[in-house]
Amino acid sequence: MTDALVRDSHFLDDESGLFSEDLEGLLRSDQRIDRVHKVYISRSLKLSGVRAIGFDMDHTLALYKKRPIEELAFTATVRKLLARPGYPESVAAIEYDPAGCVRGLIVDKDKGNVLKLDKYNYVAVAYHGTRLLSHSDILKDYSEDVLRFDPNKHYSVDTLFSIPEVWLFIKLVDLIDGKKIPNKSYAQAFIDVRACIDEAHRDGSIKQKVVASPEQYFDEDPNLALTLHKFRMAGKRLFLLTNSALDYADVVLGFLLNGKLPKYPTWRDYFDLSILEAGKPSFYKRPDPAIPLDSAEPAVLFKGGNAQDLVARLGVSGDRILYFGDHTYDDILRTKRQFNWRTAMIVPGLAAEIKTNQKEGRLRTELFKLFQERDATYLKITKSYNNIAKARADKIHNFARKTQSDLARLDRRTRETFLEVIKLEKHLSDVMIKINVRNRDLFRRYNKYWGSEFSAGNEISRFAGQISDFACVYTGKVSNLLAYSPNKYFQKKRSVMPHEAEYAAH
Ligand SMILES: [Mg+2]
Repeated sequence: MTDALVRDSHFLDDESGLFSEDLEGLLRSDQRIDRVHKVYISRSLKLSGVRAIGFDMDHTLALYKKRPIEELAFTATVRKLLARPGYPESVAAIEYDPAGCVRGLIVDKDKGNVLKLDKYNYVAVAYHGTRLLSHSDILKDYSEDVLRFDPNKHYSVDTLFSIPEVWLFIKLVDLIDGKKIPNKSYAQAFIDVRACIDEAHRDGSIKQKVVASPEQYFDEDPNLALTLHKFRMAGKRLFLLTNSALDYADVVLGFLLNGKLPKYPTWRDYFDLSILEAGKPSFYKRPDPAIPLDSAEPAVLFKGGNAQDLVARLGVSGDRILYFGDHTYDDILRTKRQFNWRTAMIVPGLAAEIKTNQKEGRLRTELFKLFQERDATYLKITKSYNNIAKARADKIHNFARKTQSDLARLDRRTRETFLEVIKLEKHLSDVMIKINVRNRDLFRRYNKYWGSEFSAGNEISRFAGQISDFACVYTGKVSNLLAYSPNKYFQKKRSVMPHEAEYAAH
C-alpha cells in the first residue's frame, strides 16, 4: 500500500505540506494496512501531543541488509582474532550462519552457553557451543530456574550489531571443547571476540567497506523521505541522535535521503538538530557541552553534548518528545525512564516474523486442532474416572440393596470404563506426540536454532517482554508511519485480567 503512495503524483506534488483528506481518510483505516507494515501499540500514544521526533541512525533510519553487514563484521572479527596469540588457523574455516543468534539472547561467558529466556527469565532454550542442551542439562546448570542477570557473567544481545560476535563465540566453544584451542577459557574467548569486533568497528575495517558501497549494505526505502517530510509538515521538529560520526552519517543518510525530495537537497535539511557521536548511553547523564560542527546561527549540527542540552535546544521536553530507536536499553529504556520521552522501537526482524506467522497458518491451525483434541480427550478421561468413582460409591453405599446380577453389571461397567480410559490415555499420548512434533516443526520454521524471536515455550520471550515493557509502540521500520496520520492516536486496547476477559469482548 505504501509503495502505491510513492507513485501518487498528488502526494509528491504536495507543496503546501497538507495531505489530501481523501488520502488521509484512506490511510487512517488501520485495518487496510498489511500486518507487516503496521505500528503495534504497547502504551497509548497521541502523536498530536508530540512536538519533537528524534531518530537513531543505525538499524533505525538506516536499515542494514542482514546477511552482508553481519558477514562483513564476522569476517573482520575473525581476521583480528587470528592475529592474536592462541587462535589456530581452523578459526578461519568457521562459516557464518545468520540464524545462529537473535536479539534478546544471553551469553553465559563462564559456561560457554547461549540462552534464550522467556519474559520471566526462565531458560527456555540453551546451547553449549552448537549442542542443544536438554531440559535436564538446563536444570543442572540453572537450578535456580530464573536467571539473575550478572554483567560479570552474562552478556545480553541488545543490539543487532552483536549478532555476529555471538555466533563466533558459539563456534569457538565447540573448538575449545574439541581441544582445538588449548589454554583458553570460554570467558577469555568471549573477551577476545568482544575486543576484536569493537576494534573492527573502531578502526574502520567495517566502515570503510560500507562507505565504499552503501548499496550493498543498506535497504533503500523510497518512503523514508516522505515519512520525515510528512512529520515536518505536521509541525513536528525532527532531530537526529546517533553515536555515528558525521563522515559516516554523510555517506549513510546521504545514500538514503539526498536528492529524494526536491525540498530537501541533503539529509541535513530534514532535521532541525543533528547530534553526531552522541556516545549513548553516557549522553543521558554526563554534563559535557555539545560541540558545534557548522557555522549556522544557531548551529544545527553538533558532536557529543548531553540530553539536557538537547532538550533545551529543542524547547520541548518529557512526553512531548518521541524517540525512534532499535537499542533496547540505550534508545528505549533510558530515554523513557530518565526523561519520560515517548518511545518507538524499530524491530527489523518483525516483518520476517509476521510473514512466517502468515505462511505457517496451516501448521498453526493444525496445532490448534490438536490442542482442542488434547483438551477434549482430557475431559473424556476425567468424565470416565468420575463414572468409575460413582459406580464404586453406588456399590459401597447400596451393597445390601443390590442383587447379585446388579453388582455383576456394575462391575462389568466399571471394567469397561477402565478399558475405555486406557484407550483414551493411549490416544492422548499419540496427540501429545503429534503436538510435540508439530511444535518442533513450527519452531524451526522461524529459526532453526532459536524458534520465534518473540516467543519462548508458552510465554513471550525476554526480548518481546522488553519491547512491551519499554516501548510505547513498535514497528518494523520508520516509514511504516507514512500510512498513518501524523496526529494519529495510537490507542491501546484496555488491558484485562483473565477473569475479566469475557466482559472485555462486549
Ligand atoms: Mg541503532
